[in-house]
Amino acid sequence: MTKILSLTILLLAIMPTFAAVKDTPHAVKTLEIYKTIIEIPTVAGRGKVPEMAAYLAKEFRAVGFQDEDIQIIPTGETVGMTVRYQGNGSVDKPILLLGHMDVVEALDKDWERPPYKLAQDDKYFYGRGTIDNKLGITMLSSTFIRLKKEGFVPNRDIFLVFTGDEETGMVTTKMLANERPELANAEYALNSDAGGGDLDKTGKAIAYLVQAAEKTYVSFELTLRNKGGHSSRPRPDNAIYELSTALLNIRDYHFPVRWSDMTREFFKVSGAQLGGELGKAMTAFADDPSNKKASDRLEIESSFVGTTRTTCITTMLKAGHAENALPQSATATVNCRIFPGVSVAQVKQRLQKVVKNDAIEFVTLDTPVESPISELRDDVMGAIKKAVHARYPDLQIIAYMESGGTDGKHFRKAGIPTWALSSAFMNPDEMFAHGLNERLPKKTFYDGLDHWSIILKELTGK
Ligand SMILES: [Zn+2]
Repeated sequence: MTKILSLTILLLAIMPTFAAVKDTPHAVKTLEIYKTIIEIPTVAGRGKVPEMAAYLAKEFRAVGFQDEDIQIIPTGETVGMTVRYQGNGSVDKPILLLGHMDVVEALDKDWERPPYKLAQDDKYFYGRGTIDNKLGITMLSSTFIRLKKEGFVPNRDIFLVFTGDEETGMVTTKMLANERPELANAEYALNSDAGGGDLDKTGKAIAYLVQAAEKTYVSFELTLRNKGGHSSRPRPDNAIYELSTALLNIRDYHFPVRWSDMTREFFKVSGAQLGGELGKAMTAFADDPSNKKASDRLEIESSFVGTTRTTCITTMLKAGHAENALPQSATATVNCRIFPGVSVAQVKQRLQKVVKNDAIEFVTLDTPVESPISELRDDVMGAIKKAVHARYPDLQIIAYMESGGTDGKHFRKAGIPTWALSSAFMNPDEMFAHGLNERLPKKTFYDGLDHWSIILKELTGK
């Protein structure tokens, strides 16, 4: 074999499978939107979200969306945005499609490439937002444009609902979830900002995950005060020692095991897939969540403990005011991720007992959002299956509970069941959302081009 021939064969072998779809008008338009919005730095404080919304509005108008169906709602320096795809009215309640337009700050000097330029090599697209969540905004927007061009008429209204400060205050999220009568009546929402497929290191698909619940995020500040004094005249009462003892009591406390149909199903399917000793513990927990041996085993796994119970952990400390003085106060921040169905008040009361020190003052930081689990429905699951199995036949689809936080919790709280189902398939090791050098495998960008249109046609095309 000549060198050139073997080189050609090698190139063909490693040539990405997406070469064929890359030049379709839908792929070209999608990439154009992706590039344009990644290059608008929609970070809190820079006031750039309105520019991004205006650009998207122009794209929607260009394919025939009417002005009155495109709403840009100013909120401080940012905006929320909705786009209505009018249906034929055979079904009353609309469906919402969620995404967020803002991104987490990225500093030029820390990145290998400029974060607000879409860069690419053979395998990846690079830039802030390539995953979180400009991929979602891009895919939802280009799907609307494509369906409009095809002349598709859904059986009900579909709304794009784009927030403008998901990564910071979620003020636009709360406004869109609670103050827009045209959205309040929605039957459910599909979120582009979480969920998606897991790949192993070789690129083989392991499972597709649908986010169906989020834990409640809350932090408490625990403060102990003391009259202090000179450090040359120590006394047994000491704010730092006493607070430390309280924190060790929290460390040693185990919140009771909790479960739902969804988390049991999650462990049943994941356990069967994972196998081995840990997989067995998952299966045993799924069979019987009161099996203490199984829940104890899962509790020591940082990836799974959050799916078995509420967790609270000390994350910050500040205490004392001078090297040579007895501390007049000591404060710790304790961050909790609360299982749906348990209230913030219940957890606070529990911690107040656990610390065994009535002198400790508890302050709840911010306003926590408690949201219910959205149990999956057959029609939505069927549509997800159709889209996922078009790419990965027979792949397992699993609902899960997020320990972090997305816009979805505000919609769930407002009574709109919400599931997150990103088009992306990634190896978790490639996940750099929020971090340095955020990137997306090009294969999953191109393979995911039909994801949302398959789902929408399935749900609203009959
Ligand atoms: Zn996000």
